[in-house]
Amino acid sequence: MNRILVVDDEEEEILVPLLRQLGRVFGNENIKGATSAVSALEYAESEQFAVVVTDLVMPDMDGLDFCRAFRANPINLGYVIMLSGGDGGIAKGLQAGADVYFRKPYNIDDLVAQIEKGLDVTRNRVCLSKDSLTGLYMRRIFEAVFSLEIAKLQRKASPLSVILFDIDHFKQVNDTFGHHAGDEVLRETADLLKKYRRKSDMFVRFGGEEFLLLLPGALEGKAMEIASRLRGALVEHRFPEVGRVTASFGVATTIRNPRQLISRADHALYLAKRSGRDCVVLAEAESEGGGAGWKTEEPQRR
Ligand code: GH3
Ligand code: MG
Ligand code: MG
Repeated sequence: MNRILVVDDEEEEILVPLLRQLGRVFGNENIKGATSAVSALEYAESEQFAVVVTDLVMPDMDGLDFCRAFRANPINLGYVIMLSGGDGGIAKGLQAGADVYFRKPYNIDDLVAQIEKGLDVTRNRVCLSKDSLTGLYMRRIFEAVFSLEIAKLQRKASPLSVILFDIDHFKQVNDTFGHHAGDEVLRETADLLKKYRRKSDMFVRFGGEEFLLLLPGALEGKAMEIASRLRGALVEHRFPEVGRVTASFGVATTIRNPRQLISRADHALYLAKRSGRDCVVLAEAESEGGGAGWKTEEPQRR
């Protein structure tokens, strides 16, 4: 993650020359410009920025509100540099979540040094939010993101799906080939299955050999399709030391009752284990009254 986002409403005087200067140092392909905080937030929804340089005074949404909104999403780990002409905003800028305050007119060498430091800081933050073995998000970050997704779902009534999967007989892998080989299986499984995630999906190491894929906007059919693909990719793969490994999958979708989403997926996963493993089971549709439901008879195997 090394992208830099620059936000300033003064396009001709500030934004364009700054983008040009930073492009020379960090590479044009790593720099993106936004003329408003609103469009900057949109960009930040679809990609991660390591450093954000933002103006304080802007029409519609100012740098402070931008900072608060950016920080409200725990996935945004970027280092925020707030640029402003006055001195009055320093405390407010820092309280809103900026990492550092920079005064206009800026000295470009100082700003570049600050951005370099910001890139380092973000690299550390990324390390702390990801599991060191698999490079996937850790459960605590997922939990923060999930509560935001719940709020979003309640505002927009768009679906939210989750795929929960657990490697089959993993204890045997450890017992037969050793813990180190087991670790390799976890690392390689994450690497292999990362490719199937869409841009907006979040891939999480949920527990020891249990993984979760959060799929905002995905309906049941889409989530089932992705889960089947994950299962298939794992079955096809040969791990150098261990050979073939399978996993069991539970899938659940919600449009109205997100709080039971994980427990429904977990129950579906349990049914997948019970019905012989190496399969995908879909949780029963959520009930009107909010109770969790699932298929109790023969689970749907795919
Ligand atoms: P099931 O098919 O029912 O899921 O059986 P299982 O053996 O996979 O499940 P169980 O919960 O009995 O065992 C999980 C094992 O995963 C036990 C634990 O030591 C191992 N494990 C958890 N985290 C790690 C890890 O980070 N590395 C390694 N090598 N093993 C781990
Ligand atoms: Mg297991
Ligand atoms: Mg397990």
